[in-house]
Amino acid sequence: MSIIYIELDEDMEMPCPCQRCGEWFDLHNGRGSKSWYPGTVICKECSDEEREEMEVEAAEQEEEDDYEEEDPDDFNPDTCPECGSDEAGAPICSQCGCLLVDQDDD
Ligand SMILES: [Zn+2]
Ligand SMILES: [Zn+2]
Repeated sequence: MSIIYIELDEDMEMPCPCQRCGEWFDLHNGRGSKSWYPGTVICKECSDEEREEMEVEAAEQEEEDDYEEEDPDDFNPDTCPECGSDEAGAPICSQCGCLLVDQDDD
Protein backbone atom coordinates (compact mmCIF):
# COMPACT_ATOMS: atom_id res chain seq x y z
CA MET A 1 0.00 0.00 0.00
CA SER A 2 1.29 3.39 -0.89
CA ILE A 3 -0.17 6.70 0.01
CA ILE A 4 0.57 9.84 -1.89
CA TYR A 5 1.75 12.11 0.82
CA ILE A 6 1.62 15.85 0.44
CA GLU A 7 3.04 17.88 3.25
CA LEU A 8 0.33 20.25 4.35
CA ASP A 9 -0.23 22.11 7.54
CA GLU A 10 -3.08 20.56 9.47
CA ASP A 11 -4.94 23.80 9.86
CA MET A 12 -4.94 24.69 6.17
CA GLU A 13 -8.49 25.36 5.12
CA MET A 14 -7.90 26.15 1.47
CA PRO A 15 -4.45 24.93 0.47
CA CYS A 16 -3.31 26.14 -2.92
CA PRO A 17 0.05 26.27 -4.68
CA CYS A 18 1.81 29.59 -4.98
CA GLN A 19 2.06 30.82 -8.57
CA ARG A 20 5.60 31.99 -8.00
CA CYS A 21 7.44 29.54 -5.75
CA GLY A 22 5.14 26.51 -6.02
CA GLU A 23 4.89 26.08 -2.26
CA TRP A 24 1.53 25.21 -0.77
CA PHE A 25 -0.06 27.83 1.38
CA ASP A 26 -3.43 28.49 2.94
CA LEU A 27 -5.42 30.83 0.76
CA HIS A 28 -6.50 32.69 3.90
CA ASN A 29 -2.86 33.52 4.66
CA GLY A 30 -1.95 34.49 1.12
CA ARG A 31 -1.80 37.98 -0.25
CA GLY A 32 -3.15 39.44 -3.46
CA SER A 33 -0.31 40.05 -5.87
CA LYS A 34 -0.14 43.60 -7.21
CA SER A 35 2.85 43.59 -9.52
CA TRP A 36 3.86 40.03 -10.44
CA TYR A 37 0.49 38.27 -10.75
CA PRO A 38 -2.27 40.90 -10.63
CA GLY A 39 -5.56 39.44 -9.42
CA THR A 40 -3.82 36.30 -8.12
CA VAL A 41 -3.21 35.31 -4.51
CA ILE A 42 0.37 34.30 -3.78
CA CYS A 43 1.95 33.06 -0.57
CA LYS A 44 2.92 35.48 2.17
CA GLU A 45 6.67 35.00 1.63
CA CYS A 46 6.43 35.84 -2.07
CA SER A 47 4.10 38.72 -1.33
CA ASP A 48 6.70 40.15 1.05
CA GLU A 49 9.35 39.84 -1.67
CA GLU A 50 7.05 41.47 -4.18
CA ARG A 51 6.37 44.36 -1.83
CA GLU A 52 10.09 44.84 -1.18
CA GLU A 53 10.77 44.95 -4.91
CA MET A 54 7.98 47.48 -5.41
CA GLU A 55 9.37 49.62 -2.59
CA VAL A 56 12.84 49.54 -4.17
CA GLU A 57 11.42 50.57 -7.52
CA ALA A 58 9.38 53.34 -5.89
CA ALA A 59 12.48 54.58 -4.07
CA GLU A 60 14.46 54.62 -7.31
CA GLN A 61 11.76 56.65 -8.96
CA GLU A 62 11.73 59.10 -6.07
CA GLU A 63 15.47 59.56 -6.45
CA GLU A 64 14.97 60.45 -10.10
CA ASP A 65 12.29 62.96 -9.16
CA ASP A 66 14.60 64.58 -6.61
CA TYR A 67 17.31 64.94 -9.20
CA GLU A 68 16.51 68.51 -10.15
CA GLU A 69 19.01 71.26 -10.69
CA GLU A 70 18.81 74.29 -8.47
CA ASP A 71 17.10 77.27 -9.97
CA PRO A 72 19.85 79.45 -11.45
CA ASP A 73 17.53 82.46 -11.53
CA ASP A 74 17.78 82.85 -7.76
CA PHE A 75 20.89 84.99 -8.18
CA ASN A 76 20.87 87.85 -10.65
CA PRO A 77 24.38 89.29 -11.15
CA ASP A 78 22.93 92.28 -12.96
CA THR A 79 21.11 93.50 -9.89
CA CYS A 80 22.62 96.30 -7.84
CA PRO A 81 23.65 94.93 -4.42
CA GLU A 82 22.76 98.24 -2.77
CA CYS A 83 19.31 99.15 -4.08
CA GLY A 84 18.26 96.05 -6.04
CA SER A 85 17.77 97.96 -9.27
CA ASP A 86 18.23 95.90 -12.43
CA GLU A 87 21.35 97.41 -14.03
CA ALA A 88 22.26 94.82 -16.69
CA GLY A 89 25.67 95.66 -18.17
CA ALA A 90 25.94 99.08 -16.49
CA PRO A 91 29.21 99.83 -14.61
CA ILE A 92 27.48 102.23 -12.25
CA CYS A 93 23.99 101.94 -10.77
CA SER A 94 21.69 104.55 -12.27
CA GLN A 95 19.57 104.57 -9.11
CA CYS A 96 22.07 104.89 -6.25
CA GLY A 97 25.32 105.54 -8.11
CA CYS A 98 27.29 102.67 -6.57
CA LEU A 99 29.93 100.88 -8.65
CA LEU A 100 28.78 97.55 -10.12
CA VAL A 101 32.14 96.37 -11.46
CA ASP A 102 34.97 94.80 -9.51
CA GLN A 103 37.87 97.20 -9.05
CA ASP A 104 40.47 94.66 -7.97
CA ASP A 105 42.87 95.58 -10.77
CA ASP A 106 45.14 98.53 -10.17
ZN1 LIG B 1 5.33 31.83 -2.99
ZN1 LIG C 1 21.87 100.81 -6.79
